[in-house]
Amino acid sequence: MLEMRSSCEKCGAALPADSLEAVICSYECTFCRSHELAACPNCQGELVRRPTRVAAARVGVVVTADGYELNRVDGSRGELTDLRQVEILNEDEVYFILIGPENSLVIPQGTPGADELLVHLQKLPGFSHQRFLEAMEGQGRFVCWERPPLQA
Ligand SMILES: [Zn+2]
Ligand SMILES: [Zn+2]
Repeated sequence: MLEMRSSCEKCGAALPADSLEAVICSYECTFCRSHELAACPNCQGELVRRPTRVAAARVGVVVTADGYELNRVDGSRGELTDLRQVEILNEDEVYFILIGPENSLVIPQGTPGADELLVHLQKLPGFSHQRFLEAMEGQGRFVCWERPPLQA
């Protein structure tokens, strides 16, 4: 991956990743375009405008101190704090479904963070590993965990 150096090696000016003002040589020596250098002062190589890099949206699911957060590919965000039930939907693709009293999060298995989520879910007291295995091999929707009734 191209190294995005953050400043000009000649004058020290900031050249953030989205700057249109950076030029680089093949070794990624980085300068302001405004110096109008004929070649890289370090290696005499050709200088070209550095392509910009836009910060990638952090798509993924995370387990937080008080619940679950999901940032979807389309940029929308979901949150769930009061987990009541965990289902696995196997329909060609596998989805983890976290169900709360008011909403639910549907998380495709390939989502970044889903592996860590699964490790977390499998540690929930009473999580059915049997059901989980059935879900992985079968088709349909499988309830793998339900919050036990509160003790009186
Ligand atoms: Zn400069
Ligand atoms: Zn160079």
